[in-house]
Amino acid sequence: MAKDYIIGVDVGGTKINTVLIDKKGKLIKKLKVKTKKKKQEIIGQILDSIDFVSLNKKIIGIGIGVPGILNKKRTRILNLPNLQAWKNTKLKEIIQRKTGKKVMLENDSNCMILGESIFGYAKNVKDSVCLTIGTGIGGGIIINNKLYSGRSNAAEFGHISVSDKYKCACGNIGCLEEYVSVRGIKRTAKRLGINKDILEIQEMAKSGNKKARKVYKITGKYLGIGLSNIVKILDPDLILIGGGISNSGNFLLKPAIKEMKKRTFFKTCPVKIVKLKDNAGAIGAACLFLSV
Ligand SMILES: [Zn+2]
Repeated sequence: MAKDYIIGVDVGGTKINTVLIDKKGKLIKKLKVKTKKKKQEIIGQILDSIDFVSLNKKIIGIGIGVPGILNKKRTRILNLPNLQAWKNTKLKEIIQRKTGKKVMLENDSNCMILGESIFGYAKNVKDSVCLTIGTGIGGGIIINNKLYSGRSNAAEFGHISVSDKYKCACGNIGCLEEYVSVRGIKRTAKRLGINKDILEIQEMAKSGNKKARKVYKITGKYLGIGLSNIVKILDPDLILIGGGISNSGNFLLKPAIKEMKKRTFFKTCPVKIVKLKDNAGAIGAACLFLSV
């Protein structure tokens, strides 16, 4: 009998990561491509990536994580704040029709926390939370070992307010995402006289550049404010951080944890970088077929 495999697609504002895994979470094949601009191009990239990782295996389903809000039934995209013109796209139906496979759609951060709860650090943890930090910030919550999405949109941590400055793409002012995301970090860096792209800023911090370190200190402080709010609402067992910006590691995490503790009057939970690293979102999307 042929073994069963699952495909997971993590659609990000910067890149699309696609994986083929078996039911035990073993990574068989992966492909990462830079996200194009137009919706039709991106749908084409998703289909090509699925085709590329399939390897003629017996695929039981394709899980897709997207950076934004979906309808309650998880068939339609309602809003992707960092990608244009996706409103009301019936992505599940489109991919199902083109591939002939069963497709499940979920918010990307929900996928990430799901993946971590099956194959990562949140395994056997009752209440856990994750933040994906990249082009924007997403969030996922597991309560009593189950994904919690409220009426549909819980865990939009990127859009909790941490100041009265800077208008966000979502319409609110002072969103956490305006400070802790690729554009947030670049803005802080620019204010300190570093006009570089995110990888260069990261490299500068790693090689000990004082100004670049300060950028991460400021970013970490805002992340800590956000974490402290999350902790006071949910008091989870564990907080996990994923997404491209999590590669900054301790430069970001240390000041964030310090600020979180400073602003919380009880003992806070551990904060860690996701175990599944760069593949957390894509493996998590595939896990949609393991949780049901
Ligand atoms: Zn916002």
